[in-house]
Amino acid sequence: MEVFSISSDVKRFRVQAPRVDALKVDVTTVEETRKKMKKMKAFHIPDLYKSNIIGGIKESRRLQDKLKKDFSPTILNYGTVKFLISRHFGFCYGVENAVEIAYRTIEENQDKRIFLLSEMIHNPDVNADLLSRGVQFIMDTAGNQLIAWETLTSNDVVIVPAFGTTVEIQNRLSEIGINAYQYDTTCPFVEKVWNRASAIGQKNYTIVVHGKPTHEETRATFSHSKENAPTIVVKNMAQTIELAKYITGEKSSEQFYEEFEGQFSEGFNVKKDLQRIGVVNQTTMLASDTQGIADYLKQVIIKKYGIEGSDVTAYFADTRDTLCYATNDNQAATYGLLKEKADLVIVAGGYNSSNTSHLVELCEPELPTYFISSADKILTDNLISHWDLHNKVEKITKDFIPDKEQVTIMLTCGASCPDAVVESILFKLHSFFPEAMAIEM
Ligand code: SF4
Repeated sequence: MEVFSISSDVKRFRVQAPRVDALKVDVTTVEETRKKMKKMKAFHIPDLYKSNIIGGIKESRRLQDKLKKDFSPTILNYGTVKFLISRHFGFCYGVENAVEIAYRTIEENQDKRIFLLSEMIHNPDVNADLLSRGVQFIMDTAGNQLIAWETLTSNDVVIVPAFGTTVEIQNRLSEIGINAYQYDTTCPFVEKVWNRASAIGQKNYTIVVHGKPTHEETRATFSHSKENAPTIVVKNMAQTIELAKYITGEKSSEQFYEEFEGQFSEGFNVKKDLQRIGVVNQTTMLASDTQGIADYLKQVIIKKYGIEGSDVTAYFADTRDTLCYATNDNQAATYGLLKEKADLVIVAGGYNSSNTSHLVELCEPELPTYFISSADKILTDNLISHWDLHNKVEKITKDFIPDKEQVTIMLTCGASCPDAVVESILFKLHSFFPEAMAIEM
């Protein structure tokens, strides 16, 4: 019986092509990022977000697989219930950085009003705790104003969330006399996308941003990108196929402005600005989706100009994908998880969390998937309240745990979900199996 041990299947995974290849992630980028990761600092995270058991699992796997080549899950076998824990999940570099800065800001500015531009990360526990400490949100996640700019003064502290913010808001803060960079938790991996967009924009390519148009990060990336180049956001392959029709001239320019309303930069010229393009993405999109979109647009360009080989770069900038390391790792680990057999999977995270939603999308076709924000959503041993991604509603499912001799449950979460949440879910599920072996702390 394996308890807190790595699956014997680990060896099988090791000899197979790493799952990261399945994501078609650019290897150079991943290696570069990994080199940078080695230099990444350890952050100071409040204890309420930590978990001994989850932290222990992560550290054990990290020590056994420092190069992060093994994407198989960790198996916790308690007899009547077995958990398969994803190889990668939970707080990423950008989230830990943001959490550390936010809590330090509160500590250092007890005599000041502290604002966050909007949710710092997409996790309800973290945001609720910040609110309970007196932090106020200026906007909601959709960008609707909750506190009027006019009420802010130069004596206030404003924290920029991990998604970054727009140039317009940076300027607005500056007009009020607030330094937008003093308490800036913008993730360096988001800034890397801005830099990539800027670099190709300066070479006269138009930037195509694959992202959710209303997501804070995509709004920020769009805003920074349009400073240097015409920019357009596409949310999925369906929109990309329509965009391609303007590249080929199949659709008229007039239609474009209506069809892509709110998704293109001011002065966008359909005839001129779709001749040379490069694709960047919101860091948390599904890797395979972004790759599909970039490949599709590249083929459209190749066909349009009748070009091949190095000539392609004259019209299509080789941006590779701009997903962050955490998105790559979490998605690759989810593919690794799904190679195993289980009765159900629990994915924990904020319902507005993009990276978590994509993990749910990967799991749903494979087995019963329950997207929950906390252990409280597991109402009883046969009732669970979970988020329906497609209809954007919380729904209750009965008999989510099958009646079997041994139930196998997969467990993972997004990059903004604290280990403590995963631990509480693990304990709650385990409590439904009185015959199970105890969880060792
Ligand atoms: S998911 Fe990636 S981009 Fe987003 S905060 Fe984490 S490391 Fe940064």
